[in-house]
Amino acid sequence: MADFIPASAPVLTADWQQCPNAHMILFCGKDILLQKGPGDCCSFPAPETATLSGEALLIGHRENTPCFAAETEEIPDSLDVIPLRSAAALLPEEDFFAACRAKELLHWRKQHQFCGHCGNPLAEPENDAALVCPACNEHYYPQIAPAVIVAIVRGDQILLAHNKRFQGKIHGLIAGFVEAGESVEQAIHREIREETGVTVKNIRYFSSQCWPFPNSLMLGYYAEYESGEAVPDGEELETLGWFTADNLPEIPPHGSIARKLIDHWRGEA
Ligand SMILES: [Zn+2]
Repeated sequence: MADFIPASAPVLTADWQQCPNAHMILFCGKDILLQKGPGDCCSFPAPETATLSGEALLIGHRENTPCFAAETEEIPDSLDVIPLRSAAALLPEEDFFAACRAKELLHWRKQHQFCGHCGNPLAEPENDAALVCPACNEHYYPQIAPAVIVAIVRGDQILLAHNKRFQGKIHGLIAGFVEAGESVEQAIHREIREETGVTVKNIRYFSSQCWPFPNSLMLGYYAEYESGEAVPDGEELETLGWFTADNLPEIPPHGSIARKLIDHWRGEA
């Protein structure tokens, strides 16, 4: 699998119409449109499959093949409509990275059409990822919201919670956004204290993952339980409990950093 190389200055272009072999990363609302391959594997459709007209965002290349991102309302019969969250388990990691970049840039551009200072329409500069106001020269860069996700371990147990936003009975890890002015470590201690009532120590970094819902960067950590009784806050968390590896509830699907943290903890990664 060739690496995806992000464009340093993504631009809106109609060039996709001249690139029959390009990858077209298409979205319809929160869903991504994918070409079904053998087994559970999926890939991006070719441009001729697309029903969009006009410009698409050139977001990068794989080898010399351009990758375009666009939104469409018309869904070709040949493509599957898949929630982007689920695509993490269906796409190769490099493709999911490209899809995340596509989704975040499309969302950011939709939210940043005008200058926040003077109200003029923003323009694309050459050789820069920013959008720029031609009137006052203010630069706007894509916004990423860092969030922490933490696997809290106590002996041979892990703390898992059912968040109100989770589907079904899935139990996941404690997570939350880093607030303005906070360090990542402060955010971890605050989120865990607020949502579960326990304190932790020995925080260790694990890995990170782009999480384009709509613009997060998930920073994954392990932490050791220190003190306190685990009680769900009742606001975000409905249930909360300590589980051993051989007695886990339903956990987040493959492809998510939550699942990677849990699998790595139980020695399956
Ligand atoms: Zn301006």
